[in-house]
Amino acid sequence: MAAKYIFVTGGVTSSLGKGIISASLAKLLQARGFSVTIQKFDPYINIDPGTLNPYEHGECFVTEDGAETDLDLGHYERFLNVPTSQANNVTTGRIYYNVITQEREGAYLGKTVQVIPHITDEIKRRMLLLGESGEYDIVITEIGGCVGDIESLPFIEAVRQLRWELGVNETCVIHLTLVPYLKAAGELKTKPTQHSVRDLSEAGVQPDILVCRSEHHIPTDLRKKIALFCNVKQNSVIESIDAETIYDVPLLMRKEKLDERVIAKLKLPHKSEPELETWKEFLGRLKNPTAEVKIGLVGKYVELPDAYKSIVESFVHAGAANECKVSIKWFQSENINDENVAGLLQGMDGVLVAPGFGERGFKGKLEAIRFVREAGIPFLGICLGMQCAAVEFARNVLGLEGAASTEMDPNTPYPVIDMMEDQKQITQKGGTMRLGAYTCELKKGSKAFSIYGKSKISERHRHRYEFNNKFLADFENAGMVASGINPDTGLVEVIELQNHPWFVAAQYHPELKSTVLNPHPLFVKFVKAAMNYTKSK
Ligand code: GLN
Repeated sequence: MAAKYIFVTGGVTSSLGKGIISASLAKLLQARGFSVTIQKFDPYINIDPGTLNPYEHGECFVTEDGAETDLDLGHYERFLNVPTSQANNVTTGRIYYNVITQEREGAYLGKTVQVIPHITDEIKRRMLLLGESGEYDIVITEIGGCVGDIESLPFIEAVRQLRWELGVNETCVIHLTLVPYLKAAGELKTKPTQHSVRDLSEAGVQPDILVCRSEHHIPTDLRKKIALFCNVKQNSVIESIDAETIYDVPLLMRKEKLDERVIAKLKLPHKSEPELETWKEFLGRLKNPTAEVKIGLVGKYVELPDAYKSIVESFVHAGAANECKVSIKWFQSENINDENVAGLLQGMDGVLVAPGFGERGFKGKLEAIRFVREAGIPFLGICLGMQCAAVEFARNVLGLEGAASTEMDPNTPYPVIDMMEDQKQITQKGGTMRLGAYTCELKKGSKAFSIYGKSKISERHRHRYEFNNKFLADFENAGMVASGINPDTGLVEVIELQNHPWFVAAQYHPELKSTVLNPHPLFVKFVKAAMNYTKSK
């Protein structure tokens, strides 16, 4: 069967949760036996979000093949348990880049290169690419931004063209809108939805299904009204009520029969009822915890929790696995110093030092690590968090005064973290770090080995700096062991402290691989260690 295409657009406002709706629908279709993938088209001009400050756009999610992508791809993977790739995230910048590169190569044979048809052709080519691989029955394409924005227009135009070219039953357009509640009037309002659907229709795209975000249940008469004004069937006005957790949304969408509407519209074979038992079991564990731990998350982007999306979700998965509620306490590393650190972190059952870039907040991270190392509080360091653990150990245990990462201090006498040799020649910023999956060999008998239960692992990376092996013998002699090494390059990937209940730090990003079905062992065991720590207090 040729792949069918579902397009998810949004209107009224951003942040309605298109990514979660797309992932939830994908989950339901997958649970019915279809093979599904989701891709995201973003209207901004950056080639990818790799160069964006997390404050701008939240976390940058890295795929197995090393693409720096939108954080929604993280949701897709966490819901579907299927990896995404470079092909699953396309920006306006990428589209133009491809078209302009071809123009310079003379591919347009003297023609005037225009938005229509050349840009839209390239968008359509990318929209169909995954479907043509033959791997998928259904490709869901989420269009970032809002209908009506100038920058979204070429994407909507491409959808309009594709609907005609592929045929009526080959595509389905789902439009996500807001039905706000006006407290003063005591009413839910449908006008913004009507206007948004009108904008979309003006662009030549009539949606098949409306998903209406709302804080209150949408009564039948209102659904009727929306259907009437927006040219959709009443049963295709789907309510999306605020959920207790994003992982409830697939079940809420099932209740609203979103999957059935899609199957009917696309004339898909009715395979089976969705098999959601494991999903429900996960929710059961998530919602009925028998213990609670407080985890301190030390980072510099804490004002915007989206900057650490995958870490937060990994704790949700690991919490459920342990039937333990994980309360994350956020600590702005800039505000931590040697005087207040004990007061701030004393009550924590575990502390995680987050990934990051640059000088800001570096000292506070070192203070936090010194404190948990000395106090015996479980510690997990990720990427920059691991590099900080190495610097802290060098300074305070090995007595190497002024030890640093050359990222923070290029003239340090003790560069315990240094730029990788092959990074030194690189001047371009985007897509040039050590990115994507690399294998790592764990030492038998180490904590890391017991956590994973095997020696060969593969994890995803995003960094330019590395542990400097010149210092490795000194570290190991003093009790900080390199328990994970890249077998091809000898780069240190995991360090752990021997005389500490649980102190593990990884150069890679375990959070990028945790899913509902496969909670990541490092997070699961870290939460477990935090539970043990509370018990022992
Ligand atoms: N800034 C560090 C590096 O480039 C760590 C990066 C990260 O935490 N993702 O190596």
